[in-house]
Amino acid sequence: MSYSDWRQLVSLFPDEKVIHEVSWVECYTEMAGKYGDGRLILTTRRIMHINYRTTGFWTTKFAGFDSVTFEISLDEVETFHLSEDTIGLKKRGGLYPGAHVDITLHFTGSNDSSSKQQADAFYEEISAAIIQAKTPKPIEVKQEIIQYNIVTKFDFGGKGVLKIACPHCGASSPLESKSSIVLCRYCGKQYIIPKKILDLI
Ligand SMILES: [Zn+2]
Repeated sequence: MSYSDWRQLVSLFPDEKVIHEVSWVECYTEMAGKYGDGRLILTTRRIMHINYRTTGFWTTKFAGFDSVTFEISLDEVETFHLSEDTIGLKKRGGLYPGAHVDITLHFTGSNDSSSKQQADAFYEEISAAIIQAKTPKPIEVKQEIIQYNIVTKFDFGGKGVLKIACPHCGASSPLESKSSIVLCRYCGKQYIIPKKILDLI
């Protein structure tokens, strides 16, 4: 069981990227009321804490992931602050309007870096990510360009049926109505039939 196996518990959105991960972070939330060691993950969309399953008594060992302690989307974070090796987060929401949920993250300092350094680094990343998440994105304007081509080729079939050729794909079909815009049955594009041709039927 490796630390990256949390991905089996949480699936990321197609546009979501992991920015920062810290192992052995203790977490207390009002939501879950849970106090536990786990992996703290910051992505371009949310902050997640995934609780460890551990073994051992004197020496606690990582034995996989238990559950998601919390996940909050970055734009739900109201305030956050750093003090020594602890980050406090305030999330919008709760039982009544205007309520907050407090989350406390305590960096216990695994590996070679100290708890204070880990908290500092996470704080920096979270500040940047929240600003990014709260910055309104320019609305993508999808422009659909409809191109009308005009029929130039037509001929009378055997029984006096006027056949027109689609200017997009060349498929020939009988002209059935006097409407000037026709949808090609073969390629699905629209085209215009000049009045002069319409007058022939
Ligand atoms: Zn066509």
